[in-house]
Amino acid sequence: MKYQRLRGVKDVFSPDNSVWESIIAAAVSVFKTYNYSLIITPTIEEISLFSRGIGEASDIVMKEMYDFNDKKGRHIVLRPEGTASVVRAYIENSLPEKSDMYYIGQMFRYERPQTGRYREFYQIGVESFGDATPYKDAEVIILASAILKAAGIKDAVLNINCLAADAGYYEKLKNFLEEKKSGLCGDCKNKLSRAPIRVLDCKNEGCRQAVAGAPLITEHLTPGAGASFSKIKSLLTAAGISFTVNPAMVRGLDYYTAVVFEFTTDKLGPQQNTILAGGRYDNLVEELGGKKTPATGFAMGIERLFEVLKAQEGTITEAGPEAFIIVDKEFIDRGFELVNSLRNSGIRCAMGYQERSFKSQFREAESKKAGFAVIIGETEVNTGKYSVKNMADGSQKEIEAAGIAAYIKGRP
Ligand code: ATP
Ligand code: MG
Repeated sequence: MKYQRLRGVKDVFSPDNSVWESIIAAAVSVFKTYNYSLIITPTIEEISLFSRGIGEASDIVMKEMYDFNDKKGRHIVLRPEGTASVVRAYIENSLPEKSDMYYIGQMFRYERPQTGRYREFYQIGVESFGDATPYKDAEVIILASAILKAAGIKDAVLNINCLAADAGYYEKLKNFLEEKKSGLCGDCKNKLSRAPIRVLDCKNEGCRQAVAGAPLITEHLTPGAGASFSKIKSLLTAAGISFTVNPAMVRGLDYYTAVVFEFTTDKLGPQQNTILAGGRYDNLVEELGGKKTPATGFAMGIERLFEVLKAQEGTITEAGPEAFIIVDKEFIDRGFELVNSLRNSGIRCAMGYQERSFKSQFREAESKKAGFAVIIGETEVNTGKYSVKNMADGSQKEIEAAGIAAYIKGRP
């Protein structure tokens, strides 16, 4: 029996893992400077949290959830997104009303797998509670942009929109779409009565053409939302963040109430070009049983950031150890002592512990792309100095064990 991973999931290992590490490290370091704190929530939740939170008419709830009954018959789901879980945790644990949090973890959606679209995927996300000001919306967008920049993403385009339309807008939109009904896909025909705004977001080419000329939500904002949206735009401009207002962008989740935003790239094809998405959701906390609390946030897909970085860089190579210890079989203990002491000094190093020829150990040092090889043979033990060979230029120097770490650190 030969096992294979399931469709739509993946294994990540060297050298791609180095890009994953640097994406996560970049995000964590930006979260620290913005003073956002880590929250960890379970990957399993009661299914109603999402059907309630994300909206019964959303694609996720209608067809993408991994749900099952557990041994006690509880209806459970592998979380398809992070926000509803974080809101649940915020309410359940009575977290401070004003809380700025981030999470990193996997989500599950039964989708058709493609590049950048998986059934289990990782999101890095942010949820900020208790601040309804446009400054918080701007902060969250600037934070998102800072992470993309720190991760090395070039040419991401920011689109923003506001969904706080007056009541008349939805009626107008529905009437407009009713007339175009024959050109819409089956899904959108269904959405027309329940969530007409969703039709604007359909990726189907026919639907995209049908919605051209639809009434623009940005021309029907409530006065408060309009003022706030203007302020967000001016704060972004002042912060040097460029953006386009896209009145057709609605996002796939029901809970957004005001500003929404997306960062896209041209590296992943039209179906998967969104790398980060979010917005304000001022009703969800109350909807899920808490006090009415303003909130805003976003999530980005690590797989998509990875694909963009790979496309930008061409090839990915994982950095090798700074030092690889090579020993005569008599001196494995000394090698073990040295590898431990170099590691204690913060040098990234490796060693093989089997009895092997120098040649085979050198080959391993080369294949691991070691910066230096530190050789411990009979001569070295007799003189008390180990040979430190620069693998890039072949130069070699004899150094006492205690001086090796400093020597390696001093030479990039
Ligand atoms: P899409 O329109 O691409 O399906 P979405 O609107 O469903 O995205 P969100 O639920 O807002 O996306 O998720 C935020 C981000 O998570 C997306 O911008 C994307 O980077 C990532 N993402 C969403 N679904 C997947 C998936 N199936 N595989 C990998 N990444 C995903
Ligand atoms: Mg989706």
